[in-house]
Amino acid sequence: MDEFRVDSHKLIYHIERLYQWNKGEDIYPIYIEISPFGGCNQRCIFCALDYLEYKPNCLDTPTLENFLKDISRKGVKSIMFAGEGEPLLHKDISHLVMYANRNGLGVAITTNGILLSGELLKEILPSLSWLRISLNAGEEKTYSFIHGAGSNDFHKVMENIKQAVKLKKENGYSTTIGVQFLLLNENYKEASILAEKLKAIGVNYLIIKPYSQHPQSLNRLKSQLNYEKLLSLKEQLRGYEDKDFRIIFRKKTMLKIREQKPYKKCLGLPFWSYLTSMGDLYACSVFLGDERFCYGNIYQECFQEIWKGARRKKIMEMMENNWNIENCREICRLDEINRYLWELENPPQHVNFI
Ligand code: SF4
Repeated sequence: MDEFRVDSHKLIYHIERLYQWNKGEDIYPIYIEISPFGGCNQRCIFCALDYLEYKPNCLDTPTLENFLKDISRKGVKSIMFAGEGEPLLHKDISHLVMYANRNGLGVAITTNGILLSGELLKEILPSLSWLRISLNAGEEKTYSFIHGAGSNDFHKVMENIKQAVKLKKENGYSTTIGVQFLLLNENYKEASILAEKLKAIGVNYLIIKPYSQHPQSLNRLKSQLNYEKLLSLKEQLRGYEDKDFRIIFRKKTMLKIREQKPYKKCLGLPFWSYLTSMGDLYACSVFLGDERFCYGNIYQECFQEIWKGARRKKIMEMMENNWNIENCREICRLDEINRYLWELENPPQHVNFI
């Protein structure tokens, strides 16, 4: 059961912002993804952003502090640290998590979990709304292959998750701790093994999600996958569920991969944004490196200037009048939001017969 609405969207809980958007107002986003560091300590075979080459760009801490303060003042509700690289490699990540939280933002992290230990774990955990670990195998050997990782890394990550859960329970933190597993031919036989181990540790959930091809990614795993064949896994995994441990099997997304998009425009961009480790604020994380999607840079302008600036206006016009949705990723981050907004803008007949 997806009580976290991972396979859906949450715009229905932001009626006011939705109403402003519906009236044609230029709204500020609700959520921003931030990549504090461009390098990575792993080389996953499925990495969508491998084409960016893991450059160790590091967002300057005082500049990022100003950005966090600004976005909070303008009504951004939440941020996730993740991005082109491993976020825990930023030397000030603990400080940044606590700083964002103190400034009224909901904060989350998606990480490979290698560095999630000791003081760093103690400092960030209480300030996080949720913590998600990308863990794509149930055994050491498969983990090393899929993550391009060292031989002991699987055990290190499992131990770190165990410590995080222990710390949360001992201190009564409300942080949700979950694991994400990208379903591939190389790992599907280990999904149950991982579910069993994570349930014993006491994490809140395990997400099983499909791979989707990023248009610029160097890896090409798509051709090997047939998710219809793997759907039976859902029933097998259900046996591990109980009130404290959920399996979020993203069947809806798996089935959508073959579908044509039911919307003709990307309408969701005003509700979110993406900040790269170079300080570039992007409309869409699928088109990183493509200047046509870059609103501006936080080393040159403040958030408000970028958001209200001429470049963003031009991008919004391009998306409205001159963009073919077929150029987009098959399943992207805004897919559910786009479906919802498209329906809102293009209602069916007889809507008053509720
Ligand atoms: S990939 Fe998705 S978010 Fe990006 S422009 Fe296309 S539809 Fe919008």
